[in-house]
Amino acid sequence: MIDVSVNGFGTIGKRVADAVSAQPDMSVVGVSKRSPNHEARSAAQSGYDLYAADPDRVAEFGERDIPVAGAVGHMLSASDVVVDATPAGVGESYRDRYEDNDVAVIYQGGEDASVAPNSFCARANYGRSVDETAARVVSCNTTGLARAVTPLDEAYGVASVDATLIRRGGDPTQTDRGPINDIVPDPVAVPSHHAPDLRTVLPGIDVTTKGVTVPATLMHLHSVTVTLRSAPTTEEILERFGEEPRLQLITTESGCDSCADIQEYARDTGRPRGDVWENCIWADAIHVTDNRLTFFQAIHQQADVVPENVDAVRALAGTADATESRARTDDALGVGM
Ligand code: NAD
Repeated sequence: MIDVSVNGFGTIGKRVADAVSAQPDMSVVGVSKRSPNHEARSAAQSGYDLYAADPDRVAEFGERDIPVAGAVGHMLSASDVVVDATPAGVGESYRDRYEDNDVAVIYQGGEDASVAPNSFCARANYGRSVDETAARVVSCNTTGLARAVTPLDEAYGVASVDATLIRRGGDPTQTDRGPINDIVPDPVAVPSHHAPDLRTVLPGIDVTTKGVTVPATLMHLHSVTVTLRSAPTTEEILERFGEEPRLQLITTESGCDSCADIQEYARDTGRPRGDVWENCIWADAIHVTDNRLTFFQAIHQQADVVPENVDAVRALAGTADATESRARTDDALGVGM
């Protein structure tokens, strides 16, 4: 068993903790929270040992009848791997503590790429993180792009990628984010930061990304154009994407013609929190002209990095190769809609 802890039990952390506890070869040592809020209460109610990230605030948990197992140092010293899911930029401030506790660490995409020796996407570069002491799972958008581009590169060679990322303004609970009524080039400058981020996992790819932020919380929508080195048919692309468990082809007959439909389907079929772990690619929008492929994909920002974190745990622990780990993760979670 791989003993895993989660530092930062928020949007990503709580999903990763549940995904880790669903794996037959992993157990959750504990999770940590800074604030004694409803997420701390739900962690305790879910049966996780809850550790206080800030020793000065332990009493506040007690005052709210939220049981605390101890300080975060105890959790780290009992772990083989810690998943750092603290807010963007906070993870790096823990680096020395992780090293002092001799625990391997997985950072998230909000950290600078320099925080770990490798940035990670299980389909693209799992092997580079095997037996390493740290890895950084790239952001939700970069994960979505890397998952789709990697099999295309393997099959046909990718000359370049041009992607417009229509991004949700915030997660559903981020009520202080926006825009409320605008469509914002974000950033105005091209490329957006996603292009260099994609190159951290796929260094050879010529990529341009543009970001647009819209008043929505559901998902991101990517409009992607890939120039290939050979000219497959649309049917061949459909077949190639269809072989990838984390790429879900969405058909017109399903009636899922919006991000809201996809999320509703995920909730209707009992997905935890309505999570969509897969890239959702509309089959009818896949179009090939000569060697230029275009497609749309919807990315659930809160969920697609979750199976990646599980695979990153196995990579750092060195207990499975990429194919075996992805299959185990997908099987335990029920990936494939
Ligand atoms: P979040 O704010 O929802 O959760 C962060 C959690 O960390 C909260 O529970 C908070 O109480 C806790 N925390 C705050 N300071 C802490 C500290 N010093 N020590 C321990 N815990 C602390 O954030 P999130 O959205 O889950 O983002 C976490 C990371 O995942 C970021 O790097 C982010 O960029 C990345 N990420 C987020 C999304 C997304 O859509 N939310 C998608 C992909 C990657």
